[in-house]
Amino acid sequence: MPAQTTSPRPIPILRTDAELPRPAVSERIRDRLVSAGCRYHANDNISAFIFDGEHEALQAEVQAKMQEVLETLVIDTVSDHNTVETAQRYAKMLLTEVFSGRYLPKPGVTEFPNVSHLNELMIVGPLKVRSACSHHLCPIVGRVWIGVLPNEHSSLIGLSKYARICEWILSRPQIQEEAVIMLANELQTLVKPDGLAIVMEADHLCMHWRGVKDDGSMMTNSVMRGAFLKDPDLRREFLSLVTKKD
Ligand SMILES: [Zn+2]
Repeated sequence: MPAQTTSPRPIPILRTDAELPRPAVSERIRDRLVSAGCRYHANDNISAFIFDGEHEALQAEVQAKMQEVLETLVIDTVSDHNTVETAQRYAKMLLTEVFSGRYLPKPGVTEFPNVSHLNELMIVGPLKVRSACSHHLCPIVGRVWIGVLPNEHSSLIGLSKYARICEWILSRPQIQEEAVIMLANELQTLVKPDGLAIVMEADHLCMHWRGVKDDGSMMTNSVMRGAFLKDPDLRREFLSLVTKKD
């Protein structure tokens, strides 16, 4: 009888958590958003789901993907000195500048009680705004005017804070109609005025650079809330002051 051979039992390969392949940082962030049931559209802020050190890791991931896009566009990023560091510059620009309003938390804003019980129309603007359209990721450059009718319970915020909140909302891929509503919601919560009015006028570069190539088109949007909706005189006063803007 032939000798019986026993096949060697497979030795289990044990790997520690650190050795297991980790999902890409964008995947981890997305998983957290999905499990929390949170929307992550282009103009949503997702900073609460980005943990320490992940902002830099996300920038590195975008850079690697952008490098692939350049290669797919058959651009020689090795010999062409102009494009050697384009992927790196582009990723940095998206994450830390032009789309920073998606990845960084809301700027701290100090609110002051309305001790003098100010209740007169106050207009802030024009504030310069820069954004990009969600459809083409082309720049949007424009101006915003904010009208506030405070009451004695309103909180007052400094002028520069209006600009910082505005920048935070606009530094995302945006749709102008949604941007003014997001800005209104933010200011309504912060200032709690009797009336709030916002007018945004902007130039969409996707209209100049591509498509119809129409150089004269500007888009204007407005949001009126509270007293600005109910009181036509107040609305007229705000709009007349804003149209005398130039
Ligand atoms: Zn567009």
